[in-house]
Amino acid sequence: MSELPSPPHATGWAEPGAGAMLEIDLGAIAANYRLLDARTGTATCAAVVKADAYGLGAHRVAPVLEQAGAHTFFVAHLEEGIRLRCCISRSSRIFVLHGPMPGTEAEFTHHDLLPVLNSMEQIAGWHAHAGRTGTPLPAALQVDTGMSRFGLSDTDIATLSARPDLLDGIDTRLVMSHLACADTPASPANAMQRDRLRAMAARLPTAPLALSASSGIFLGPDYHFDLVRPGAALYGLAPNENAPNPLRPTVRLAARIVQRRAITTGDGVGYGLTWRATGPRRIATLGIGYADGFLRHGADGGGCAWLGEYRLPILGRISMDSTTVDVTDVPDSVMARATHVDMIGPRRSVDDVARSAGTIGYEVLTALGSRFHRAYLTQAA
Ligand SMILES: *Cc1c(COP(=O)(O)O)cnc(C)c1O
Repeated sequence: MSELPSPPHATGWAEPGAGAMLEIDLGAIAANYRLLDARTGTATCAAVVKADAYGLGAHRVAPVLEQAGAHTFFVAHLEEGIRLRCCISRSSRIFVLHGPMPGTEAEFTHHDLLPVLNSMEQIAGWHAHAGRTGTPLPAALQVDTGMSRFGLSDTDIATLSARPDLLDGIDTRLVMSHLACADTPASPANAMQRDRLRAMAARLPTAPLALSASSGIFLGPDYHFDLVRPGAALYGLAPNENAPNPLRPTVRLAARIVQRRAITTGDGVGYGLTWRATGPRRIATLGIGYADGFLRHGADGGGCAWLGEYRLPILGRISMDSTTVDVTDVPDSVMARATHVDMIGPRRSVDDVARSAGTIGYEVLTALGSRFHRAYLTQAA
């Protein structure tokens, strides 16, 4: 007996004006936070909610994480921090990963945001700002342990060791770095970066240390230090693609069936007529396309949707607003009652969609557009 996608969970599930519905399970996000927090022992488990909580809506996600026990948050940009400040309690810390661009320092203190200082320029800016305010100002220092992206170099640290006064007025609350190869546990870069963090931190003011994001947490306690910064794992992405995913899925994406038709041998489907029927087929056109963030390459590597237990292969190219799937194998009785199919759901994870599209779950999640209707499941399931 076949199962249809579940009936409305939240108001708006059947919203007829939208082509697709993104259901976000806040209870699952909270459960993922608790799992990561438990897994990291005495280390503080922070929460990364940059890019609007990976596209899921920071204003809804952050308060739930806070209730689950998160009191340290990370965003990338000042503007993200200002927006986040309004949705969580004043006592929770917000670190801004990119730090202050010159001239924005006063906005950090005004909104009670902590900068991550990544360069000598940012240190000089924060030092000068502290001088103007007349009080030491909290901040994190980032060191580059090998990714060549953000953070102080060995030369910078040598300069700071020789001239500790450059850090006057800076109350160092965290010394952090970021792993380049955490999703590949066998990479020698992991231990190298871990050891470099220790060595570099030894030459800076004493403060809690942080290295790991989601995947790094699963490298083991040696990588937890005093604070961990998961993002992707909170939202259910697999920390390591070669191991079972211990996290709960947090999103379901259901697309509306807009039209059905029967086609026959030789009929082509979609732009370029790149797919042609070799026999009679029944197909359905769905109201979701690449403008919704459903990546055009999603059709390439065996992309599909699901209707209950029935797998619906994507046919031809994904259009801007629509996608066509093969529903030949779905019994008429099931098809007659169906209104939506799952693009992401119990049988197809965000990581599966990413694999078909030749990308990573991070890109799929953050690309999911704002055009479709969103529903938040709030009960802790
Ligand atoms: C994005 C980011 C994180 C979170 O990474 P995930 O892999 O999503 O857990 C942590 N730290 C830094 C510095 C980041 O840029």
